[in-house]
Amino acid sequence: MATATAFKPSVPKQLPPPNSDFYQFADLLTAEERATVKKVRAFMESKVAPIITKYWAEDAFPFELLPAFKELNLGGLGIEGYGCVGGSQLLVGLVGMEMARVDSSIATFFGVQNGLAMESIALGGSEEQKQKWLPPMARYETIGCFGLTEPLVGSGAAGGLLTTAKREGDTWVLNGQKRWIGNAPWCDVSIIWARDVADNQVKAFIVENKTTPGFSVEKIQNKIALKVVQNGQITLKDVRVPEANRLQNDNSFRDTAKVLRLTRYDVAWEATGCQMGAYEHALKYAQERQQFGKPIGSFQLVQDLLARMLGNVTASQCMVVRAAQLEAEGKLTDQHAALAKAFTTARMRETVAWARELLGGNGIVADYNVARFFADAEALYTYEGTYQMQNLIVGKAITGLGAFV
Ligand SMILES: Cc1cc2nc3c(=O)[nH]c(=O)nc-3n(C[C@H](O)[C@H](O)[C@H](O)COP(=O)(O)OP(=O)(O)OC[C@H]3O[C@@H](n4cnc5c(N)ncnc54)[C@H](O)[C@@H]3O)c2cc1C
Repeated sequence: MATATAFKPSVPKQLPPPNSDFYQFADLLTAEERATVKKVRAFMESKVAPIITKYWAEDAFPFELLPAFKELNLGGLGIEGYGCVGGSQLLVGLVGMEMARVDSSIATFFGVQNGLAMESIALGGSEEQKQKWLPPMARYETIGCFGLTEPLVGSGAAGGLLTTAKREGDTWVLNGQKRWIGNAPWCDVSIIWARDVADNQVKAFIVENKTTPGFSVEKIQNKIALKVVQNGQITLKDVRVPEANRLQNDNSFRDTAKVLRLTRYDVAWEATGCQMGAYEHALKYAQERQQFGKPIGSFQLVQDLLARMLGNVTASQCMVVRAAQLEAEGKLTDQHAALAKAFTTARMRETVAWARELLGGNGIVADYNVARFFADAEALYTYEGTYQMQNLIVGKAITGLGAFV
């Protein structure tokens, strides 16, 4: 007699959730670092993710997020004293990475305030200047920006800024223009880098945006990347600032480069986070999207794309974690930071493009997130010095031969 085969209901297989920490870097963190990362992830996923695409599409900054952002208590991360929360550069990197995993614009806002603006003061300011400016910036009561790039001088900033600073007694008179300056259209203070006409050296000045006569900002319109960050073109027309606002320990572009070393390191972490986000969105889509009656994630060519993305993500994570270790030992050089920025941003460009490809048509619709990662990656690739400039810094270090001009 034939026996009836037992009926097995088709239970959908539990698929692994997307996880971009394939080599388990989280295991290397201290309990405190893990708690900070967790807090940032919760903020980014619960507060930023639901609204950011709308702001991105509207070219607008989400000021509604600022109160919750302040509560994260990240003001002055990596800076000791002066009301700053301090902590390691590893933690600064992890926070930037976590932010960029959800949105590169929020990571950039944090990077401009914490890195470019506050680190400029922390590294170049006198004791008195640090006491005055850093505490309100750490509380996010004063928001800053960093004005180095000019309409006619970008990559060549080390070679000759056109913005001039002329000393008249205890006052400096600034004239010129700055372009691409993140936060500038709405923030409170600008770190303006200008060439001292007396010795031709680059010096830095703290300018109060809203109250200084001759200082004006025009928002750059129609960007296709980092649309949430408001970038400005600053005009300085006979702007007068007191000597007390000149960063006292900055005497040449070498001092500017000290800030850029740290912020390029930060961007490498952001580029890693941007890839992580794009990869996770793409993987989730591949598990859900059906074609030919199967999830597209079951196709060999799709798995190949995903594995390549994960390879890029993981290689970038290895690099930035090692850069953090070098920094902690006081060994991070300009060329280390430059290589990390160049490598991770180049890998990011590949990763986000593969993620976009994997989403098919939906890859170009902002509602599916990956399009935002794809577009924003272009800004990360260029800002803080282009790929070519980073490789020229590395090239000079490894050959001993400068090739900038
Ligand atoms: C979204 C965004 C935000 C930014 N935020 C800020 C900010 O907050 N503050 C700030 O000061 N700046 C900011 N920047 C400016 C940024 O740092 C510059 O865009 C960048 O340094 C490149 O300068 P550039 O755009 O003038 O390009 P250019 O210098 O004109 O370069 C154009 C191209 O020529 C290449 N090139 C130039 N010289 C060489 C060479 N010698 N050899 C080989 N190739 C070369 C470059 O690599 C690039 O591909 C921002 C830029 C963007 C896009």
